[in-house]
Amino acid sequence: MTGGEPPGRGVNDGFMGKIVTTAKNQGKRFSEAGRPFVPRPKKEIEAMIDFFQRTYPDARCGLDFRDGYELLMATILSAQCQDKTVNLATTKLFRLFPNVATLAKANLAEVEDCVRVCGFFRQKAKSLVDCAQAVTARFGGQIPATLEELVSLRGVGRKTANVVLGNVFGVPGITVDTHVKRISLRLGLTNNEEPERIELDLMEVIPQAIWTDFSHQVIAHGRTLCQARKPQCSQCQLTLCQARA
Ligand code: SF4
Repeated sequence: MTGGEPPGRGVNDGFMGKIVTTAKNQGKRFSEAGRPFVPRPKKEIEAMIDFFQRTYPDARCGLDFRDGYELLMATILSAQCQDKTVNLATTKLFRLFPNVATLAKANLAEVEDCVRVCGFFRQKAKSLVDCAQAVTARFGGQIPATLEELVSLRGVGRKTANVVLGNVFGVPGITVDTHVKRISLRLGLTNNEEPERIELDLMEVIPQAIWTDFSHQVIAHGRTLCQARKPQCSQCQLTLCQARA
């Protein structure tokens, strides 16, 4: 879900300039290049949405899952880890622990063994078991369908909750992973670095009905052309991009 960008590496490393905040400019919104932040006109945002929809019409969640249980656990594992690695881990995990009830009673060492290929596997294995136990104790074994309930579970932040809501329950949600963060900044859809604030900025300008699809399409663009270090701008048809190299 996060792609291959190293942990902690921001969008401004290398490819673009830094955000500069001084006493004089405090309180104003600035672009990634230090210029005053000007929201993109509605027509330009519509053109970008059109580009993403035409270019990535089949973009979907890259995690393998059959139900809410599987997607919730896979998304917890996806922090700082590529989807294909998570899919390798969950193939074994879901064979041994096919539902919330079995995972809630799992031996931690066995879960660690299943998810060893993912980074931070001990911490993530504990989150999986704790999460399954909380779902069993507090939600009768059913994966909750609201943001508030989901983020109350161990290892579940807004990104994970929105992935589950959008892909299992059909509740539109913007997922701000490393690709969405980077591309939103490059396109001038936000000037914020914090995922929660980027999510709010996108929610203001992207129609709610397409929040989930838009997230998948932007992630697909990040994987295909708009990589962190070397975006392939010469092959990209997003002519409105203000970060075009
Ligand atoms: S023009 Fe370059 S930086 Fe802009 S979206 Fe396309 S690939 Fe990314």
